[in-house]
Amino acid sequence: MSRLSSRVRSLTPSLTLAIAARTKALKAGGVDICNLSAGEPDFDTPAPIREAAKAALDRGETRYGPVAGQPLLRELIAQKLERDNGLVYSPEQILVTNGGKQAIFNAVMALVEPGDAVLIPSPYWLSYPEIVALAGGTSLFLPTTEGADFKITADQLEAAITPRTRLLVLNSPSNPTGMVYSRAELEALAAVILRHDLLVLSDEIYEKLVYDGTTHHSIGSFGPEIAARTITVGGFSKAFAMTGWRLGYLAAPPEIVKAAAAIQSHSTSNVALYSQAGAIAALQDERVAGEVQRMVATFAERRTAMYRALSRVPDITCAAAQGAFYLFADIAESGLDSTRFCEKLLEEGHVAAVPGIAFGSDAHIRLSYAADRTTILKGIERLGQFMAQRR
Ligand code: PLP
Repeated sequence: MSRLSSRVRSLTPSLTLAIAARTKALKAGGVDICNLSAGEPDFDTPAPIREAAKAALDRGETRYGPVAGQPLLRELIAQKLERDNGLVYSPEQILVTNGGKQAIFNAVMALVEPGDAVLIPSPYWLSYPEIVALAGGTSLFLPTTEGADFKITADQLEAAITPRTRLLVLNSPSNPTGMVYSRAELEALAAVILRHDLLVLSDEIYEKLVYDGTTHHSIGSFGPEIAARTITVGGFSKAFAMTGWRLGYLAAPPEIVKAAAAIQSHSTSNVALYSQAGAIAALQDERVAGEVQRMVATFAERRTAMYRALSRVPDITCAAAQGAFYLFADIAESGLDSTRFCEKLLEEGHVAAVPGIAFGSDAHIRLSYAADRTTILKGIERLGQFMAQRR
């Protein structure tokens, strides 16, 4: 009999980590790999943020802090949510977490009862179903297609709801598809959520990374009724190139924040105070806003470059995504499943990409443009050669 709990035995090992390990091994062996598998910005954290964290360490911010976060940071996040997103939260309704991931984990643990169903549009970020499983819930996937821009409709949501449905997870801009829901699409979903008295977890971690004049909208901003049913998740990893700092947050009705904070108080406690000092600078220092703008402009150029190059590759189709830093390319014509495709692409074509099966679609691969322009263009050229050889 296994000594491990059934909870942990049901977890799926991360496919992304397997690809990363193989990429690293090939690189160590001297192979020139174009890495298009990154899930994090390739930029350095802006200098003012790093300076603020160093100063905090020198001031002695090395001890325990309040579980829910530094009061100033909670206040700045509340101000940011009102200014940028039209979301009205008091600082007490903000919980600072160890990354957006812990915000999602705490919220799901606080809300999902064993046997509850959680609706997840598919393709999805790979941690959602694993977190739901850890809470004892059941994930019900709402399939989407490239033709529908990988988005669910209000009718589709309505049809999937049963008495056991507790929560809908929304992720816009999306990892892995890069798609962004419009205001009208979100309003239609909000109407269904209200009608059925559901909760919605809105993962907006990529909110700043939108292109072509696309606007990000927060579902919780459409009025007090939907706000009372929304858990908004955000973070510093993607917009500020701060993945290693472990800084995220959730904003929600007071009882949900209290419950999520209680869970955090018995697991990790507060986010490291010097990390929080960095986040305060990220929100307060005007120099940072300029750097974020530059990073977003660079992502926008790379996205166009990758999309144009990809559209010349035979037997691959791809929707033009407006957000995050991914393109989700259809590889069904290759006749390979996504894992085999990525293995062969890595071993023979020397390009690292992530199999779509990790996100719920075996007919796709995820290509990341969190890489420099040369790597992107060389990588897509190699993908083209790989596809041509398979014809
Ligand atoms: N949500 C989505 C959709 C993500 O892609 C990620 C990271 O890859 C996260 C949440 C969590 O990010 P972090 O924990 O670094 O804030």
